[in-house]
Amino acid sequence: MEKINTKQIRVGDVRIGGGAPVSIQSMTKTDTRDVSATVRQIKELEKAGCEIIRVAVKDFQAAEAIKDIKRKIKIPLVADIHFDYRLALIAIEMGADKIRLNPGNIYIEEEIREVVKSAKKRKIPIRVGANSGSIPVQLRKLPNGATCEVGQGKEGKMVKSVLDYIKILERMDFYDIIVSLKASDVTSTVEAYRLFSKRSKYPLHLGVTAAGPVSTGTVKSSIGIGALLLDGIGDTIRVSLTGDPSEEVIAGKNILQALNLRNFGPEIISCPTCGRCQVDLQKIAERIQLRITNSERRTTKIAGLKVAIMGCEVNGPGEAKEADIGIACGKGSGVIFKKGKIVKRVKEKDITRELLKNITT
Ligand code: SF4
Repeated sequence: MEKINTKQIRVGDVRIGGGAPVSIQSMTKTDTRDVSATVRQIKELEKAGCEIIRVAVKDFQAAEAIKDIKRKIKIPLVADIHFDYRLALIAIEMGADKIRLNPGNIYIEEEIREVVKSAKKRKIPIRVGANSGSIPVQLRKLPNGATCEVGQGKEGKMVKSVLDYIKILERMDFYDIIVSLKASDVTSTVEAYRLFSKRSKYPLHLGVTAAGPVSTGTVKSSIGIGALLLDGIGDTIRVSLTGDPSEEVIAGKNILQALNLRNFGPEIISCPTCGRCQVDLQKIAERIQLRITNSERRTTKIAGLKVAIMGCEVNGPGEAKEADIGIACGKGSGVIFKKGKIVKRVKEKDITRELLKNITT
């Protein structure tokens, strides 16, 4: 896949676009005014691998809480602002590393000018974050089949709203911009980002908004974000799930790893098992997954290792030989391969231990 080049923007110490690794974001689900609960959740997300965190700023107290939250966390913090530009001013003053503005609900030029003035002073970027659920009212009024100058339907309206907003920011000599165009359905999301990336070099924050509960939301996000990344589009990602935000980070990591864009740990190749399998392969694969994907191990030399866990002699030896480390199981036992060579035969009860030993040495 060929990456489409974008302008590079810094959010705290994380670079977005311009060839930087695609970063992983999440958003807290706590009441931002509750500093200790919010900090606790951010720390959990940091541990899971979150690289940028966004918090909802729904009132002045939440904006002010950013100061205390920032003191206790390591990763850059983004303030999510809707309706009231004054919340952005306070969030910036309190140390937010980026502001997200929604063109659908903060659109008065004088208000935007105030935020831009403050963001310039603190040298922080603004994300212009369009959502299909909050398209600016003047565009919303257009009939659905109407064609904006950029395209039809809600995708065209979202892209137009962002391009118009960018023009306003650029007229104010502000170019520290990141863009998102999220719809709650996969095809509109993909279409909107594709339309936009043909027209602008600002870096893109990808996501399918309101994707749903963990299982279906992960599928929708993986398809939407994955399709765009395969097109070379996208500089930072957020998987939106109704569930534990750590799941968003894990899903984000898995998407990037599956596309070979980032390397967070060993890759497990395991067969689905069938009637030929004569060991408890599911248990073995789950145990290995759990042991090698915890955060401490992700950073060690085992990142990038391919580990094959296969149920029988049909595809087992072939996959196990091709992997860095592999096991091809038989009746109550398995043969371990390392770099294509047989290391030893082990009993089923010893498979997990022996595999782990070979993975970590
Ligand atoms: S490797 Fe063997 S056990 Fe696993 S799915 Fe294929 S045939 Fe079945």
